Amino acid sequence: MTASSTPLFDTVLQQLGLDLAPWRGQGLSVRAPRDGAVYAQLASHTSAQAQALIEGAHAAFLQWRATPAPVRGELVRRLGQKLRQHKEALGLLVSLEAGKVRSEGLGEVQEMIDICDFAVGLSRQLHGLTIASERPGHRMMETWHPMGVVGVISAFNFPVAVWAWNAALALVCGNAVAWKPSEKTPLCAIACHHLLQQTLDEFAAEQGVAAPDGLATLLLGGREMGELLARSLRVPVVSATGSTRMGRAVAVDVAQRFGRSILELGGNNAMVVMPSADLELAARAITFAAVGTAGQRCTTLRRLIVHRDVAAPLLARLETIYASVRVGDPLADGVLVGPLVDRAAFEQMQNALAQAREQGGTVLGGTRECEALGEDAWYVRPTLVRMPTQSAVVQHETFAPILYVLTCASLDEAIALQNGVPQGLSSAIFTTDLREAERFLSSTGSDCGIANVNIGTSGAEIGGAFGGEKETGGGRESGSDAWKGYMRRATNTINYSDALPLAQGVRFDV
Ligand code: NAD
Repeated sequence: MTASSTPLFDTVLQQLGLDLAPWRGQGLSVRAPRDGAVYAQLASHTSAQAQALIEGAHAAFLQWRATPAPVRGELVRRLGQKLRQHKEALGLLVSLEAGKVRSEGLGEVQEMIDICDFAVGLSRQLHGLTIASERPGHRMMETWHPMGVVGVISAFNFPVAVWAWNAALALVCGNAVAWKPSEKTPLCAIACHHLLQQTLDEFAAEQGVAAPDGLATLLLGGREMGELLARSLRVPVVSATGSTRMGRAVAVDVAQRFGRSILELGGNNAMVVMPSADLELAARAITFAAVGTAGQRCTTLRRLIVHRDVAAPLLARLETIYASVRVGDPLADGVLVGPLVDRAAFEQMQNALAQAREQGGTVLGGTRECEALGEDAWYVRPTLVRMPTQSAVVQHETFAPILYVLTCASLDEAIALQNGVPQGLSSAIFTTDLREAERFLSSTGSDCGIANVNIGTSGAEIGGAFGGEKETGGGRESGSDAWKGYMRRATNTINYSDALPLAQGVRFDV
């Protein structure tokens, strides 16, 4: 017997101490993919309200940029603590509103905590370079400064972590944040906003540091709200996560006004399995990467490129797993595959499978399941599709648990197939041959932003820079030096001599 979503939403709000009354209105529905229940109607912001909120964020930035970075880090440290306290409730909310299994909902909140920790350390390390000057008595250096309001546009499938990746870094870097979450997950966004507002209040009271109103602002609405953010001259950086279609529009809107965009778009991720691979390990990695989150991660494994010598045993193993993997209520113990987000996602999946059949594919799975859980709940059996070639449907990202299987006869062929799609997010090879592994990671190997050996394509840690090439957009977020995307670089030259030598030996005597 599965519990209805409505009382669970009530409990989460109570645990978070969140009053929904000020947010109620028309425009957005809070819906639970697990049973299709609609919990609440929320108001979209009007464009006038959104403009005012962005102005408020800009005013907050003017104050925040002057707060020392380690003090800004203290705010983010407190946010991490707040998230630790509310991990259970927020994780459950992610499961309710995005349909993730319980462990993945909690994992997403853990990712928020991890990025806060990372950003705290960063707040003392936003350092530039000292560069040798060609002129005597001169010093050259690079300094990094905040940019202004960072606009964040996020997708439904990571309804809290993507905001945290951006907000934690943007805030320690001295920026304000204006967030336009997915219209499919507005309650997750309100919950995050609420926890950050509480943190800001406590920070101001206990730290004696002014935390300016509007430092973190939420813009609720549909695509038009994202467009407003992308076009606003008050928003120098727009970090946009979502489909390639969305990124194509945002990139143009931001470039038109010479803003900076950080684009995290669709993936079409592949794994190569070579004859020397540990096939049992590969099968487990494939299962998590391909069916986890019901195939609704940007890093979901969508293409398996298996060497013909090991195709038969690997596919036999996968067919057994695919037939038995538990699909169902994401809150139930032992369930690994929750629902698709909505009916449109189900229809897109069925459409892709029809195309795959037309293009010569053999489809296993893909049928609707668990209809008893709700008329508007869209569960599917994960799908293996053997394809004769990497045809049009395989080149396209369908946001569902479809794994296209292709065979290859050599590593060269495998790499050509892996790179032969428009997207370039994540990739992996399973091999125990050192030369194959190194080749895959080299400049003549995978062309993706993420390339792994003997692990799957999904489930990245926050310490590395995250993002991909080609139609994935080229942006980098999270770890490594991704923080530089949220700051501007200034080159400074200081003359401490009593002469005025010019660079390149130019003489200009007056
Ligand atoms: P989507 O593109 O439909 O929506 C994403 C966000 O963009 C939403 O907030 C939406 O309102 C907004 N938006 C849509 N059109 C816009 C426009 N023209 N201008 C401004 N904003 C606009 O994506 P989705 O269905 O929510 O998410 C699934 C997609 O996101 C998949 O393609 C997935 O690969 C991608 N994704 C990528 C990453 C990554 O890091 N690369 C991470 C998560 C999801």
